[in-house]
Amino acid sequence: MLDKIVIANRGEIALRILRTCRELGIRTVAVHSEADRNLKHVLMADETVCIGPPPSADSYLNIPAIISAAEVTDAVAIHPGYGFLSENPDFAERVIQSGFIFIGPRPETIRLMGDKISAKEAMRHAEIPCVPGSDGPLDEDYLENLRLAKDIGFPVIIKASGGGGGRGMRVVHSEAALMNAITMTKAEARNAFGNDEVYMEKFLEKPRHVEFQVLADSHGNAIHLGERDCSMQRRHQKVIEEAPAPGITEAQRREIGERCAEACREIGYLGAGTFEFLYENGKFYFIEMNTRLQVEHPVTEMVTGVDLVKEQIRIAAGEPLAYTQEDIVLRGHAVECRVNAEDPDNFMPSPGMIEQLHLPGGPGIRTDTHIYAGYQVPPYYDSMIGKLIAYGDSRASALARMRTALTETVITGIKCNIPLLSRIVHDSAFRSGAQTIHYLEDMLGMRE
Ligand code: ADP
Repeated sequence: MLDKIVIANRGEIALRILRTCRELGIRTVAVHSEADRNLKHVLMADETVCIGPPPSADSYLNIPAIISAAEVTDAVAIHPGYGFLSENPDFAERVIQSGFIFIGPRPETIRLMGDKISAKEAMRHAEIPCVPGSDGPLDEDYLENLRLAKDIGFPVIIKASGGGGGRGMRVVHSEAALMNAITMTKAEARNAFGNDEVYMEKFLEKPRHVEFQVLADSHGNAIHLGERDCSMQRRHQKVIEEAPAPGITEAQRREIGERCAEACREIGYLGAGTFEFLYENGKFYFIEMNTRLQVEHPVTEMVTGVDLVKEQIRIAAGEPLAYTQEDIVLRGHAVECRVNAEDPDNFMPSPGMIEQLHLPGGPGIRTDTHIYAGYQVPPYYDSMIGKLIAYGDSRASALARMRTALTETVITGIKCNIPLLSRIVHDSAFRSGAQTIHYLEDMLGMRE
């Protein structure tokens, strides 16, 4: 087993990783910015190294500082968590070249999946269903692009190959708007991502977001752990997630899940990953693969009983998967709410000192959070301060437990989005399940 791991992240996920390391008897190194000396996992880690001033660019994205921290502490591996450097192939490469284990896929896989055109091509090859669209990048031939758009059928969406975080896409409803949309998206992509390749897809109007969790080891084994529904989104940010996805049948799960596992074997995938799909009229359409642990991984852990971080570490250590596909049995239902330090009315971040904190408990309740009374939420990073996860033998029971858990939670000193989360879990349409990715924005009156 790995002897000592650098946790190259902060907040709840750094603590999540530390907890599993403790369980496995692995020593931990917390690397942190000057603003994060009092983070819970920093206070708990075996060793700590300050890697720079508060802005992420100078600390959590500072590759030489993180690698030096691994060197001075004699660590053997680096866990990148999610966000920050977790999907940066250059970082993974530098980690490996410096003689450490990167807890994640191979750099070439991260690179392949980081480019949406090459990712889609690889997925088509692996017979994963994709959104109908251009086979590769669009060229300058207007008539050809128009013919393609008509073949696909309006509306279409123009997407930047290097895009991410919901940026670099444009929906086109008519022929007249097509040429301008391609030109604009290309120009934006060149500025934002340094790559002006764009491609075209059918724009799905009422999809749900359904994603599959996979694990693959270095011995050629790959399994899927079922799916999650993450359709409750605001500005492409997930707010509530659940597993399994309402209405997905065992046959669909087996079919798509097995194709994802097969795709992993085909591309030599390593570690934990997620295949994201849009789901509309009973069909799945691949949109992208995330080559890392996801924020919403706990709902899968609750229904499968698998510790995904433990598996990531075991795989990185070269061990074979501890589970076969037959071992993975989904039991019950889990829901996760993302708790953000933000004003529930206007979504403005609300950093500051946490005065009182009461976390919920009882059967089926899990809280993944680094906050404590007296903790100062810094203004420099993502506003998520924790996740509330409720498990039950049915969706109704998980949601009932979540409603109580939200009522029980007290966080004072800062504003947080619990009133919004409460509103959603009490909403009758949400309670009936299977809403589209537009549901939350419609509910909030954000779309006309
Ligand atoms: P990013 O990497 O920026 O997150 P994605 O390709 O995952 O980009 O797309 C982000 C979101 O954009 C999706 O969750 C969905 O809401 C919307 N979207 C992307 N492609 C399509 C499409 N073909 N039809 C409808 N919506 C889409």
